[in-house]
Amino acid sequence: MKEFKHFINGEYMGSNSGKQFENRCPVDNSLIGMVHEAGREEVDAAVQAARQALKGPWGKLTQAQRTELLNKVADRINERFEEFLDAECKDTGKPRSIASHIDIPRGAANFKAFAETVANHPTEGFRMDTPDGKGALNVGHRTPKGVIAVISPWNLPLLLMTWKVGPALACGNTVVVKPSEETPATTTLLGEVMNECGVPPGVFNVVHGLGPDSAGEFLTAHKDVDAITFTGETRTGEIIMKAAAVGLRNISLECGGKNPGIVFADCDIEKAVEGTMRSAFVNCGQVCLGTERVYVERPIYDKFLARMKEEVAKLKLGRPEDKEANFGPLVSLEHRAKVKYYYDLAVEEGATVEIGGGIPDMGAELNDGAWIEPTIWTGLSDDARVIREEIFGPCCHIRPFDTEEEVIELANDTEYGLAAAIWTENSARAVRVGEQIEAGLVWVNSWFLRDLRTAFGGAKSSGIGREGGVHGLEFYTELKNICIKL
Ligand code: NAD
Repeated sequence: MKEFKHFINGEYMGSNSGKQFENRCPVDNSLIGMVHEAGREEVDAAVQAARQALKGPWGKLTQAQRTELLNKVADRINERFEEFLDAECKDTGKPRSIASHIDIPRGAANFKAFAETVANHPTEGFRMDTPDGKGALNVGHRTPKGVIAVISPWNLPLLLMTWKVGPALACGNTVVVKPSEETPATTTLLGEVMNECGVPPGVFNVVHGLGPDSAGEFLTAHKDVDAITFTGETRTGEIIMKAAAVGLRNISLECGGKNPGIVFADCDIEKAVEGTMRSAFVNCGQVCLGTERVYVERPIYDKFLARMKEEVAKLKLGRPEDKEANFGPLVSLEHRAKVKYYYDLAVEEGATVEIGGGIPDMGAELNDGAWIEPTIWTGLSDDARVIREEIFGPCCHIRPFDTEEEVIELANDTEYGLAAAIWTENSARAVRVGEQIEAGLVWVNSWFLRDLRTAFGGAKSSGIGREGGVHGLEFYTELKNICIKL
């Protein structure tokens, strides 16, 4: 039986309380292992280790030495690729073909990309006039923020965790990570990599547990945490924002979405179908940037819907190791209950179920897993809950539209503002519409194409702040102005 322990000050340890919870594989609900649940005591030990490490050898490293260490970490993840891949696929049930292209390589790349970004970021300088004519020089100087709490979700566990740990460490901070209770494995494994690469003890710490009245709450409320970076549901983001208000600690929140896909009649329809298929169904629809509302210009509506149904029918459900499979289960039975609730609600709200809508029969070996059918609806009204609330499952609603003005209004008619995808071969229109979409990320004729140097984050209820590229520096460093009178 596998045991997932905390990683504190360079050592693996259990909880003094002895409290543990199960980690189950969503493919067949088999038990992967037991996870130690941190109490206040373990969280405090991790935060204190992180604070001490700031004053130790880590705090004295040059930028070049830190870059070298983080490059080593990335290389070591790639050397242990198969172990990370196995761990991620067991925890999430996702196809190996997907995790081996997205989760693990991008998870490793985050360390290299941010080390390079930080190393190459110039500092600000302003020469100013003074009455004596001699002037003064202003120089910006960035210092690490301190101890960063990283609270991460389960949908892309390694990738979204290193997306925060990479820049945090590149900027010289130390971290305490609380991975999702659903997916503890790859974060735990990363502790071994940190030790193998010679990252000093206390720089990277992991505490396991749940959110409320558990490790998540204890960590975000801890007064020695200097800033909190969170990816997860908007509701949880609101709770964390309140916790961060005590001591005026900085936050970065990457939260939910209800993202529109806009398909104009002048698009390349095959490109649009391929992209919308990915954006609605990859990772079993569990991608924050995914498309749950699709708007199609009326002349191509019937054709687009028919092509989408054809492609959904071709999705192959199966175990992670099944080479033919491109569609895994949801992350847990609990999450499936939530998604299934929305599937039933859609019917109650008057949807036409174009395809899917239920729980598939996967055979005796897999029927205990968290499987669900990929689903397309039509016919819902714009105020239906299924149209307004984030489902985070493999489903989308497709609706026709007639004018550009109408579709912009429909796309923006949501409390969320994370991402949008626009499909058109008219680049002037793409820019015009893209500029009017209230979202942090807009893709034109693509989806999930990410350059790590660019800003990432959401508008409205989808988040606060931007990470990615140099934008993360605002969160992960304290910018000081040094004014030198000449
Ligand atoms: P979640 O909010 O339930 O959990 C995220 C993390 O927060 C977990 O580690 C959880 O244990 C912790 N947590 C829960 N309650 C807490 C509390 N009271 N205090 C402190 N920590 C707490 O989200 P999830 O279900 O893991 O992930 C799915 C959600 O994440 C979706 O809404 C999705 O859109 C969002 N998401 C957003 C992005 C983005 O970049 N904007 C990326 C991925 C996922």
